[in-house]
Amino acid sequence: MTALAPCAVSEATSRGRAHDEDRPAYRNAFQRDRDRIIHSGAFRRLEYKTQVFVNHEGDMFRTRLTHSIEVAQISRTIARALALNEDLVEAIALAHDLGHTPFGHAGQDALNACMREFGGFEHNLQSLRVVDLLEERYASFPGLNLTWETREGILKHCSRANARKLGPLGERFLDGGQPSLEAQVANLADEIAYNNHDVDDGLRAGLLDIETLSAAEFFRNQYEAVRDRWPDLKGRKVIHETVRAMINHQATDLLVTSRTAIDAARPGDVDDVRRHGAALIGFSAPMLEQHRALKRLLHRNLYRHYRVHRMSVKAQRIVKALFEVFFDDARTLPLDVQHRIEGRGGSDSERARLVADYVAGMTDRFAIAEHGRLFAVDALT
Ligand code: MG
Repeated sequence: MTALAPCAVSEATSRGRAHDEDRPAYRNAFQRDRDRIIHSGAFRRLEYKTQVFVNHEGDMFRTRLTHSIEVAQISRTIARALALNEDLVEAIALAHDLGHTPFGHAGQDALNACMREFGGFEHNLQSLRVVDLLEERYASFPGLNLTWETREGILKHCSRANARKLGPLGERFLDGGQPSLEAQVANLADEIAYNNHDVDDGLRAGLLDIETLSAAEFFRNQYEAVRDRWPDLKGRKVIHETVRAMINHQATDLLVTSRTAIDAARPGDVDDVRRHGAALIGFSAPMLEQHRALKRLLHRNLYRHYRVHRMSVKAQRIVKALFEVFFDDARTLPLDVQHRIEGRGGSDSERARLVADYVAGMTDRFAIAEHGRLFAVDALT
């Protein structure tokens, strides 16, 4: 492994874990974090959770699992090129979506609405809750007992109200500080990954076409470059070459721009990065504008497409119905969730939070099946 940049997170300067543990023999602390994430139940469930397309719509679409792997791949490439901690970005990337509800943003909006009186529901905070508390795997501590730096990276966004309850981990959301460069890399790799794979999946689903996408300069430039280079290329290869060029173009822009910003700011260590007034990992101004324009186009034409919207409406109804039936009558919950509620004294907000944990942990297909078991008159088991 090449030497880390001075501003990278290193094991030697890590703020450590909430519960002290011996150092692993053959791995570093961040590799251990990554391994614990991969072995968690929440990680396995990502296979059956979706972002835009519901799992049963087709086997070719991204799931949250394949999305997380793509984010890890892009993050690692960028981290390696900037001499940042590759193991840490990988751990953050693989964990960043663990707190997502079934059915993507539709599910999250519905659960947030259900939780309005009880502190709301934020998927980033839920990812942290999964790794800090909800995974029950180790004898000596709750959750996965990950390093501070992995947890810092997982908490990409947080409301001020919730940040106040988090102690040092929440401080940057109150005082405008920055997370480590590794966290910043994973955050933007997420943006690169989903914008580009939504183009790919949207085209495959027939919800987007080349003409619509060509209104976005970023897509048009790469598409035309592919056409010029291979005039006879046909079918899906044209799309794949275009998406490949888009990812490469964005990752390269991010690398060059970030390297310049780091060289100019010269942070001596990760705490200098955290105190720095602005993020040091970022796109150039023209790329940022092109990226945002493509995002807006996807919002208009894909996320609000009537076929996606129908599924979203249905998904929201399922999540809301599940939450309400469990909250109103806790005896409809599986016994282990009931026992957890009994163990907490049973205030309304405690009960609501545990119901939200249960619903958020569901995969798309489990939520649909659970809804059937509770509401379909012909499904009695
Ligand atoms: Mg993501």
